[in-house]
Order: sequence, then structure tokens, then C-alpha cells
Amino acid sequence: MTAYKVDRIACPVCGKSIKVKRYPAFDSAKQSVREKIFQGMFFHVRCPFCKTDSEIPYSTVYHELSQDKFIAYAADDAAYQKFVKEAEEEGIDRIVRDTRSFSEKALIFDSGYDDRIIEIFKKLMFDLHHKEHPEYLGYLFNVGVCEDGSESDGLFPYTTEGIVEAQALAFNRLKIEQLENEFDIYIDNYPGSCLEVDQNWAQNLLKFAQEHQDLVLEDEIPLDELDDTDAVNAFVDKLYELEGNLYDDSAAAYLKKNFDKIWAIIRKHAKKDENDKLLFDIEEDPYDEYVPNWLEELDMILNNARAYDYSRKLSELQLKEINLDGERLAYHNLKRNILECIYYSEGMDAAKQYLQQWQKEEPGSAYVAASEVDLYLINHDLEKAEKLADRYLSMPMKESGDSWLYDSCENVYRECRQDAKVRQAEILRKSSSIV
Ligand SMILES: [Zn+2]
Repeated sequence: MTAYKVDRIACPVCGKSIKVKRYPAFDSAKQSVREKIFQGMFFHVRCPFCKTDSEIPYSTVYHELSQDKFIAYAADDAAYQKFVKEAEEEGIDRIVRDTRSFSEKALIFDSGYDDRIIEIFKKLMFDLHHKEHPEYLGYLFNVGVCEDGSESDGLFPYTTEGIVEAQALAFNRLKIEQLENEFDIYIDNYPGSCLEVDQNWAQNLLKFAQEHQDLVLEDEIPLDELDDTDAVNAFVDKLYELEGNLYDDSAAAYLKKNFDKIWAIIRKHAKKDENDKLLFDIEEDPYDEYVPNWLEELDMILNNARAYDYSRKLSELQLKEINLDGERLAYHNLKRNILECIYYSEGMDAAKQYLQQWQKEEPGSAYVAASEVDLYLINHDLEKAEKLADRYLSMPMKESGDSWLYDSCENVYRECRQDAKVRQAEILRKSSSIV
């Protein structure tokens, strides 16, 4: 299908009549033509008289054989309308209106990628770097050559001046697979046209994805239909999956939908005393073997995903039902987690308020003192943290939580590079009561 005709045109530089080859349609079987497209030279003509290179584009259709895609380049509105019509009766997969996109599409398909995923990737990168680089107009997919001669796929930012090679972002297939896993469901359900897949298309697709987070949820087996253990495991797995998601919204929607259900399951299986209060610290059986693992894992993933509202909620639910006799450690662990969640979600002032209330509830508690030292440490107020550590170490503490306190003080001194004090706190910790 790679037949050409010869036309005569006027050289745009010297005006002399020159002969040019034109392909109304062609495919990727011919290596020389393929290379020309990839290099962005397909529409280039060299004038034999004035020896200048000019880009003289014309409407054409390129058949990319490896993925069996038909890419149409429309040089004018009439050609564009004609291609749109052809696409309706199938035969055209993509229409582009600039020659750079024409080359880019050919290269994307030749590299084995879905151009829709690449456009989404480009748009995400554009949004990510836009503040830092307002001069970027967008990104182009290209295959770059590394220093060791190997080829690497990359996104190249461009400005009105051209490509900024030095700022190219190399990526591997794994990244594209991740994006596919995340966006395929939105692409499948996207009601808009995929005839012109460009930055504008990607923007609309991303908007659609954000407005239809429920599509991801519908894809899952409802937790109600699973037995309890499978339900909790599915919940945890899903959170792991969503943590790497570029949209926090979908994780939030999923949490909102299922959190209470999961808590009910955990509560049902948790060990309880005769008054139906939750027990945590008991080491001997019969303890439902899963519950402590569930709670630990959930707490970890919620914090890692910075879902502090839910991490706090999980701690508060446990705190409300905890059996305080003999559950001092679990109780204080929960309080400490709530304090940190407040710090990360609402800031230092709110955290200080919570701490003051806690100090009133348990005056002189080593657990509370340790949490206070920790709070100033995570707030990077080393001076204050060190002062607190000095003060608390010289005071007798009421509670058995002193090993916590010495541990916190050790951390602070280590941060402050106070080696002598680190050793002192270490000795105290080793001789302290075991919590
Ligand atoms: Zn010329």
C-alpha cells in the first residue's frame, strides 16, 4: 500500500518548481519511510536548486503494522472532515493535526505502547512540573539514547524554543503497566471520542476519572460477600494498592465506604472480657490470632497513606472500648497515635491542646512525658525537645512508662548529637521497669 505519486510544487524558499514524492497512504513495512517519520523528517523536502530543507506537510494516512493502527495526518479542515467520516466507518484510529504529533504517534505505537496511557502520563507530568517550569508547553514521547548506548523511553518537555533534552524523564515499562492498571477502567468507560488523543483529551479523561472513582469500587467483589478473614485481607490489599495511586480521592472513597464494616468485623473477632471490653495486651491464648495483625497492619498502612483521619478514628474506636485494667500499654499507644495524627492533620497548636488535656488526665505520667518529647521532635523543635528531655530525666516518674520516656530522650539526644547524654539515657532505659 506504499504507493506514491509525484507532484510538482514551488520551493518555499527560492520559488523554483520542484518534484516531490507524495504518499496518500503508506505503511510501516518500508524501513526508510519509518525512520523518516520517527525522526520527524517525513514531510521534509530538499530543494535541488537552493539546497534548503523545508517541511511541506500534506494529508496522509500511516498504517502502523505492529499494532495495526491507522494514523491520519490532516493538513487542512477539509481533510480533517474527510478523516472523521472515514473513522465512523472504521479505518482510521487517530487523527492528528500537527506533524510533530504524527511522528510521535507512529513512534509510540511502534514502541508497543497505548498512546492513551502515554498521553495521560504526559499530562500528569505536565501538571506535576507546571509550577516549577511554567515555560513548559507539554511533553513529547521519544526514545532517547543513554550514555552506554542503550535506548530508553522518555518524556521530553518542550517550550516555544524546542525540546529541553536535559530535563527528559526516562521511564520503564513497569511505570506504564501501573498506569494501565489504574486508568484502563476509566478509558473503557470514557464516553468521549478517542479519535484525537492529545493533551486536551488526557485532561478530559483525568477529569472523568476523578468524577468516577466509584468505577474502581464497582470493579471489586463487595466485602459483604466475603467471609470475615477474606474481607479484612481484601480491604488491606486494596489499601496497599490505592496507596500508590495518584489520586488520593479513590483511597478516601474506598475507606469511607468500607471502614465501618471492617471495624465491625475486627470488633467481632477481638478478644473481650466478661464486660465486653476489648483486650489487647493479653499474650496467652485464646486470642483470635488475626486481630492484632489486622490492627497493626491497618494502622501502619493508614499512617503510610497519610490517612490520618482514619488512623485516628481507628485508635479512638479502640480507646472507647478498651479494658483499662492491665491494658496500660495499648491504651497509651493509642493515645500517642491520636496525638501524632492530630499533629499531622491539624498542626502543632491542635496537638498541644490534645496534649494539655492528656496531661490533666494523667499528671506526672511518663507515657505522656514521652509523647510530649516525641511531639517536639517530630515538629523539628530540637531545642525545646532537648530541654524537655533534660527536665523529665531529672524528675521521678509515676508510671511504668519510663522506658518509653528514656527511649524518647535518647532519640532527641541522638538528633542533637549529645553523645554523653545519649549514653546516660540509654543506661536509664536499660535499668527501667519493663512496660
Ligand atoms: Zn529552493
